Amino acid sequence: MRKIAIIGGGQAGMPVAFGLLDKGYEVALYTNRTPDQVRQGRVMSSQCMFANALDVERRLGINYWEDECPPVEGIGFALPNPEQPDTKAVDWSGRLDRVAQATDQRLKMPIWIEEFEKRGGKVFFEDVGVAELERISNEYELTILAAGKGDVVRLFERDASRSPFDKPQRALALTYVHGLEPTPEYSRVSFNFIPGVGEYFVFPSLTLSGPCDIMVFEGIPGGPLDRFRDAKSPQEHFERSISFLQEFLPWEADRARNCELTDDQGYLAGSFPPTVRKPVLTLPSGNIVLGMGDAVVVNDPITGQGSNNAAKCAQVYLDRILEHGEQQFDRAWMEATFEKYWEYANQVVAWTNSMLLPPTPQALALLTGADQHPGLAHFMANAFDHPPVLYPAWGDLAEAEKLVQTKAQIPAVA
Ligand SMILES: Cc1cc2nc3c(=O)[nH]c(=O)nc-3n(C[C@H](O)[C@H](O)[C@H](O)COP(=O)(O)OP(=O)(O)OC[C@H]3O[C@@H](n4cnc5c(N)ncnc54)[C@H](O)[C@@H]3O)c2cc1C
Repeated sequence: MRKIAIIGGGQAGMPVAFGLLDKGYEVALYTNRTPDQVRQGRVMSSQCMFANALDVERRLGINYWEDECPPVEGIGFALPNPEQPDTKAVDWSGRLDRVAQATDQRLKMPIWIEEFEKRGGKVFFEDVGVAELERISNEYELTILAAGKGDVVRLFERDASRSPFDKPQRALALTYVHGLEPTPEYSRVSFNFIPGVGEYFVFPSLTLSGPCDIMVFEGIPGGPLDRFRDAKSPQEHFERSISFLQEFLPWEADRARNCELTDDQGYLAGSFPPTVRKPVLTLPSGNIVLGMGDAVVVNDPITGQGSNNAAKCAQVYLDRILEHGEQQFDRAWMEATFEKYWEYANQVVAWTNSMLLPPTPQALALLTGADQHPGLAHFMANAFDHPPVLYPAWGDLAEAEKLVQTKAQIPAVA
């Protein structure tokens, strides 16, 4: 029986652990927080996952929240009118063909860890550093590090050729709330872009205390939306969230007039630079470790792709391990495995990074074109499930204009 170690009990590592266990591999999970610590800790993400990523969990039979988690049925996009900021210059929405869902990782990860152990996986609660990596990689045939944004991932070398930013591009904040007014017709991720200030998006989710909505704030550093760093209490963080909406997005403030924080841990503030790292770590002994998920490709949350990427990375790695049979997991196999994932992820990263910069003419053509053409709005909404469909249009004005023309012929999808 092949022996594989996964480090990190998160969105990337856990599906691989389950998938290998199902196929009879001996799998050990090393993670640095117990289920109760995760449950009782701070929220970590907004984790809106689209249908293709949810399918990974469905295939493994770990989609335990599917019936309970409120569906996200569409994507909305609004741009305030610079002449009259309490109105919208651009305002479109498109329905998703298949719904998205966002289950709080505080709910999901503890159950996954407990279930993995029940299915026969070995679980060790350990904060893994170099010494532990040496020990684990001596014991297992393959060691995968999926430790998210943990300090240990800095052991992987930053890939400057794939990382255009060396500083955080947004000051991030999350506010989990109960009592938000729903959007008309269908639920959605409501994106609001405020040029020069940042972005705000909000959507339904499932948290420890039941259905909720998650507010995500993306502030340009030093600007008026970079206002959460020194909030001294959960209530102060919440009040700053609401005052921002009142000042910049009155239609969103209106929806939030009766809302309250879900719980004292339902908020987060922080920042990190989007980074791609080289996927293979060589330890002092010469042993090698393969990186996955955020450990090697961490995106800004602006396009809501991190958990989606993690799940899709898990599927690629799982398939590659199974295909490899009894052969050795050497450096060439590890690099090829990451490159297989990168074939998909590179365009997700390019799209996400471009959203952090002033919009290109082609981005404007697509985002404003969707306001006029429901067929384009439908296409743009569904691109969140598989962002590579945005290319070549997202990178080329002539292609974008061609796409607008094509989608203009299509009537709205009801
Ligand atoms: C503000 C914010 C909003 C987001 N919104 C979205 C969204 O809407 N949609 C979306 O798809 N993605 C979103 N994301 C991104 C998404 O949450 C991550 O990309 C995803 O969780 C990555 O999965 P992972 O398994 O790589 O890392 P994680 O989920 O972070 O898991 C890492 C695991 O490793 C463990 N660990 C860390 N260090 C060690 C160590 N030294 N030893 C042992 N274990 C260790 C951790 O405890 C954890 O269990 C958001 C992120 C942020 C910060």
